[in-house]
Amino acid sequence: MLFTDIIRAKRDGGELSAEQIQFLVDGLADESIPAEQISSLAMAIFLNSMTFDEAAWLTLAMANSGTMLDWSADSLNGPIVDKHSTGGIGDKVSFMLAPIVAACGCFVPMISGRGLGHTGGTTDKAESIPGYNTAPDYEKFKNVVKVAGCAIIGQTSDLAPADRRFYAIRDVTGTVESVPLITASILAKKTAAGLDSLVMDVKVGSGAFMQTMERAREMTESIIATAARANLKVHALITDMNQVLGTTAGNALEIAEAVRYLRNEEREPRLDTITLGLCAEMLVVSGKETDRDEALGRCDEAVTSGRAAEAFGAMCASLGGPKDFIDKYDDYLEKAPVSRPVHANGFLTKIDTRAVGNAIIELGGGRRRVGEALNMSVGLSDVAPLGTRLDADTPLAVVHAASDDDAARAKSLLLEACEVGEAAPPESPEIYDIVAGNR
Ligand code: URA
Repeated sequence: MLFTDIIRAKRDGGELSAEQIQFLVDGLADESIPAEQISSLAMAIFLNSMTFDEAAWLTLAMANSGTMLDWSADSLNGPIVDKHSTGGIGDKVSFMLAPIVAACGCFVPMISGRGLGHTGGTTDKAESIPGYNTAPDYEKFKNVVKVAGCAIIGQTSDLAPADRRFYAIRDVTGTVESVPLITASILAKKTAAGLDSLVMDVKVGSGAFMQTMERAREMTESIIATAARANLKVHALITDMNQVLGTTAGNALEIAEAVRYLRNEEREPRLDTITLGLCAEMLVVSGKETDRDEALGRCDEAVTSGRAAEAFGAMCASLGGPKDFIDKYDDYLEKAPVSRPVHANGFLTKIDTRAVGNAIIELGGGRRRVGEALNMSVGLSDVAPLGTRLDADTPLAVVHAASDDDAARAKSLLLEACEVGEAAPPESPEIYDIVAGNR
C-alpha cells in the first residue's frame, strides 16, 4: 500500500477503508511514515472530514497501538465508567466526581490530561497535592481503583501511542480543530483504558474550545455516533463555559475548593449542578441506576454522608499523598505570597472566559511551552458569578500571585476580560442538554 494514494484519496474527498486507516496507524506507531506525509493527510482530513465509520476505525486502531487495559480478571463488583471533559476554566469536577461515583458502587479509572491551550489540566491540579503520584505503574493504578473505587492519574506513554504522535504533528500543523480527529483521539485513549462506558462533558461558551452551540452539537453527535461504532457506550452533557466554573481557578486553589465541596462545606450552585449532573449520568450510562432523579439523590447522599470524601482520602493516600489530606488540606497546599482583590462597579454582565484562562497562564499557573514547570499556588479565588452586583465589598475575584507586579498584570487582564452594566443579564442554564447514545 502506498501512503501517497491514501493522501490523494482523502484530498479528493473519498472515504478511507479500515485497512488504509490501519496502515496509517501502524506508520504512526512505528514512525515508518514521515511527519510531512502524516501532516498532509491530517490537513486533507481537516478539510474534507471523515465519516463516523472512518473515525471509529481510527479510534480502534489507535487504541490498539499500545497497552489495552483489561479489567476482566480483577473481579470488580461494579461497572467501570469514566468522564471526559473537552476542557474549561475552573473545571475541578473530576476531583469530586470520581469519588462520588466510586461511593455509589462504580469504579472510575481516570487517566487525565495536562493543561491544553488556555484550559487547566486535571493531572497538573492533582500534582499540587504533596506526594501525590500521577504516574504509577498499571499494577498500582489498578490496585488503587480496586481499593478506593477511583484513581486519577496522568497520561502514560504506552496508552494509544499512535495518538500521541498524531496529536504532536496536528499540534504544529494547524489541524487540531478537526471534529473527527478530536473524537478519535479522545475515544482511543478511553477505549484503551478498558471502560464499560463513558460520559462526555462537552463544554460550550467563551472559555471552551467549542464556542457556539452548533459546534458543541456537532462534537457531541460525532462522539456519540463514533463511540457506538467502536463499541463504547457514551452519554454526553452539553454544559456552560461562559464563566469560571465554581469560585476558583488555578491548581492548588481548585483542589482546596474540591475538598471543601467533598466536606459538604461549600457547594457553589453552578459547580454543584454540573458535578451532580455528570455523576448521575455516569450511574445511568453504566446501568447502576435507571432513573436520573434517583441517581442524583444517590450522588448527593454520597457527599452529605462523607462517603465521597472518604473515597477521595483513600485514593490520595494510596497514590502517595498525605493520609489526612481531607482534614488538613489547607496546611498542605501551597499559598501564593500576594493576594489582591479586584474591584469593579456594576452588575457583571459578560466574561471572556478564555482571557481569564490566559491570565492564569500569565500568573504562572499554566504553560506557555511544553514541559514548563507550574506555580501551583497562583490563580483566582472568590470569583463572582455572572449577574453579581460588584462593589467595594464584593470583588470580581481575588488574585493570588507570586509578586505585586504579577498581581497588577493579572488584575488588568481580568478587568479587560469582564464587562459590567446597569442590570444583571438573564440567567443561563448550567446544563443545556443531555444526549444519550442509543447503543
Ligand atoms: N484532546 C485530546 O485528547 N485530543 C484532541 O485531539 C483534542 C483534545
